[in-house]
Parts: sequence; structure tokens; C-alpha cells
Amino acid sequence: MNKPVNVKLKPIFTAEDIRQYFYCPRIIYFRYVLRARVSETVKMRKGREIHKEKYRSKKIEIDGEKQKYFNVYLLSEEYGLAALIDLLIYDGENIDVVEIKSKKTGNFKFLKHHKMQLVAQAVLAEKELRKNVRKIGVLYDDVDKITWFEINDSDKLEIFETLKKINEIVIYENIPNPAKNTAKCVDCEYKYLCEDAT
Ligand code: SF4
Repeated sequence: MNKPVNVKLKPIFTAEDIRQYFYCPRIIYFRYVLRARVSETVKMRKGREIHKEKYRSKKIEIDGEKQKYFNVYLLSEEYGLAALIDLLIYDGENIDVVEIKSKKTGNFKFLKHHKMQLVAQAVLAEKELRKNVRKIGVLYDDVDKITWFEINDSDKLEIFETLKKINEIVIYENIPNPAKNTAKCVDCEYKYLCEDAT
């Protein structure tokens, strides 16, 4: 009989975890330390259903000189990071990372947690596809227009620092402080658990 191999697996977090961390680090604790299962909110379910229906079956489109790749799953064991990317646009030199949203409501605000989710996808695309990513975008399907944002090296470095902090929460089982902005708690799926947490 062969000796068992002592393999140390690096935990893999997702771009969605990065988004959650920037929304409120406490969510990481509930997800990965308590492994709490909570039901998604009505708002989340609606967004997911519309999104899935229209785009989940799309694969590749050629748009002039640009190639569009939909629903691309990328994983880097070295970084401990994975993501399902809605849309990658390749122009022969660079890649742009795009998130597809079903509906534009009101004035668009690109909040930090949302931005960092896309930066995490950009970091992953650079690593796995070996192309530069300088732009991230949000495509609102109902207006069929991409709003673009430039990203820089310091944004990308922040992803590695964040992965380190997420790992520390999980390894040391430290519950982070609650969100300072309590408005965030209103739509949070962990709010009932959070009320009882120390
Ligand atoms: S309820 Fe508020 S403090 Fe608790 S995890 Fe959610 S956002 Fe964070």
C-alpha cells in the first residue's frame, strides 16, 4: 500500500468573496468560519434569475475586431482565487473584464465592493490568460451600454492584501467588527445571525 501523501491545499476564495469582504468583512466569518447557510433575499433571487436566463447559454461572439467570451470560469491555485466572469472582451492585445447587470436603476454608483469584485476578476484574467487588463466595465442590459473604469496596479495589489486578510479571518476565526454603516445591514442576508454574534 502506498503511503498517504501529505498534501496541503491552499484555500480558494472567489471574486464574490472579495465583494463581500468590502461590503462587510463579517460576512466572511459567517460564510467560512460558521459555514452558515442562509436563504438569498428576494432582490438577489430576481437579479440572478434574469441574469441566468439571458446570458448563461452564451459562449463566444465576434464583434468586428473584438472577441467576446461569456461565462468564463477562471481559477488560480497559486493566488487562491476563482471567479466566473460574465464577459471578457479581447481586442487582440488587452482584455477587458465586464459584469453584466440586468437593469439600470437611478444614477449609477460604482461602489467600492462592486469595483473590487471586478478588480479580482481582472487580476485572475491577467494571471491565467497572460494579457493586460486595464479596464473593467459594467454592462446594463436594458440600456445596452458599458460604463468603463480604469484600474491600476494599486487596485490590483489591494486584492492580494485582501486575500491575506480573508485568510486570517478564517484561520484565526476572528469575528470582524460589524459594518459602521448600518444601512448595509438592511439588505444583508446574515443580519439575523449577526444580531446574536458578539
Ligand atoms: S448584518 Fe451588517 S454587520 Fe452583520 S454581516 Fe451584515 S452587513 Fe455586516
